[in-house]
Amino acid sequence: MKRNRRIKILATLGPSSNTEEMIEKLSNAGADAFRINMSHTSHEMLAELYNAIRNVEAKINHPIGILVDLQGPKLRVDMFKNGKEELKIGQTFKLDDNPEAGDNSRVYLPHPEILISVEVGHKLLLDDGRIMLEATHVENNVITTKVLNNCVISNRKGVSLPDTMLPVSAITPKDEADLEAALKLDIDYIAVSFVQRASDVDEVQAIVGGKAKVVAKIEKPAAVAAIDEIIAASDVIMVARGDLGVELPIQQLPGIQKLLTRKSRTAGVPVIVATQMLESMIESPMPTRAEVSDVATAVYEGADAVMLSAESAAGDYPIEAVQMMSDIAHEAEEDPHYKEIIYAHNTEAESTSADAISAAVYAVAATLNLSAIVCYTESGATAARVSRERPQNRILTLTPKATTARNLTLTWGVHSVVVEDAATESQMVEFACLTAYNHELATFGDHIVITAGVPYGRPGTTNMLRIAAVGKNGKCAD
Ligand code: PEP
Repeated sequence: MKRNRRIKILATLGPSSNTEEMIEKLSNAGADAFRINMSHTSHEMLAELYNAIRNVEAKINHPIGILVDLQGPKLRVDMFKNGKEELKIGQTFKLDDNPEAGDNSRVYLPHPEILISVEVGHKLLLDDGRIMLEATHVENNVITTKVLNNCVISNRKGVSLPDTMLPVSAITPKDEADLEAALKLDIDYIAVSFVQRASDVDEVQAIVGGKAKVVAKIEKPAAVAAIDEIIAASDVIMVARGDLGVELPIQQLPGIQKLLTRKSRTAGVPVIVATQMLESMIESPMPTRAEVSDVATAVYEGADAVMLSAESAAGDYPIEAVQMMSDIAHEAEEDPHYKEIIYAHNTEAESTSADAISAAVYAVAATLNLSAIVCYTESGATAARVSRERPQNRILTLTPKATTARNLTLTWGVHSVVVEDAATESQMVEFACLTAYNHELATFGDHIVITAGVPYGRPGTTNMLRIAAVGKNGKCAD
C-alpha cells in the first residue's frame, strides 16, 4: 500500500461507492481517506460505512482515515403555491416570516436570524447563485429585495448570504445528533460546514474533546477574513470551493485557494483542496485538460490532500477518478520543477523543540540524501511538523496507536505503520530499519534518520535524532 505520491486523496462515498467491495477498490486505486457526507447519510448508513471501511483497513493492513462532514446551517426558502415562480430583473421580491405558501411577490423564509441580520445593500444568492437579490429595505421581519437577474425560483431553494454575518452557530441540532453518532464510532475527522469565525471551531472542538481532528470548511467570505484565527483553532483546513464560489465572485477562487494553502502550510495545519476537481469524470472516463491542470495546481501548491465529491460518490467512474487523480499527482510530483515551486512556499520553523528537531531532521535527510525519515510518535505531532518541511525523502511514521496512524492519512507525505511499543532506544532503531525495509522505503545499504521522544512513550517530548544504516533483510547495521 505504499503510494507513489506525497499528496493524499480524500474520496467521498455515496450511491456509486457505498459498499465494502467498492471501498476496497477505491483504496487500492489510491484513496487514503473517505468522506461521509451527513447531508445524505443516515446514522444506520454511517455505522455501515464505518464498519465497511474498518474491514477494508484490516484486509489491506493500512490505515484509512474516515471524515464525517456535518451539514451545517443550510438556509432555505419555503414553498410556493405553484411550486415555482418566474422573477424578472428589476422587480421587487420579499422574504418574510409569514408561513403561507409564496407567490410572485414573496416567500416564507423560516430563519428568523436572517430576517434580523440582513442589511440594506446585502446580496441574497439562491439556488447556488442562479438567483441574485439585493436587499433594499429591511423592517418588521420582512426583507424587501430587488431582483438582479431573470430567473426561476422554486420550492426550498438554498440561500447564501455572502455579506451578512449570521448570529448562528455552525452546529445545528441535526449536526449535534450526527456528531454524537460519529463520536460513538471511532472516526478520525469531523468537518464543520459554513464556519464563520474561530469560535465556531472552538465550539466543535469542545464537543469532540480530542476524539477526532476538526476540519474547518472555508466556504464563507467571513471565514476567509478570519482565516488566521480559524487556522489556529483547527486541526485541518478545507478549501470548500463549491460554496465559496457561490458566496464570492468565482474568479477570486484561485487566489483564495493560494492564500489558504500557503497560510495552512506555514502553520503546519493540513489543507485539503475540494470540489469539482475532476467534475467531468462524473459522466466521462476522461477528465478535461483544465481539470488535470486544476489537480496539478493543488499539488504544486503543496496541499496535503485533494478531494473527490460527486466523482467518487455518485459518478459513473469512481475508481477511474481516484486513479486519475493519483496519476496526475504522481506526474506533477515527478516534474523537475516541482521541488523549486513547492519550496518557494516553505517558511521558517517555529521556535519550539519539535520544530527545531524537525528542521534538523529535514536538513540531515536532505544533506545526506537519506532514503527515509522515520518518526516514532504517540500523538503524530512530530510527523506533522516534519511533513510541514515537505522533505523529498519518504516520511515513515511508526506508532503504537491506530488512531494516530489514521489521523495522519490527510497529512502530506506521511506513510504510517502501526507497530508494537518499543521498550528501548535500540529496539526503536531496530523497528525503524526493519519497517522501512519491509515497506520498501529503504533497502540494504541505505541510511535513514530516526526521530523520537526519549524516554519513549511520553507524547510531546521529541528530542532525539539518530542516523542508522539498514543492513541485510532490514536488520539494523550499526
Ligand atoms: C464545498 O462547498 O465545496 C463543499 C466541500 O461542501 P459541500 O460538498 O458539503 O457542499
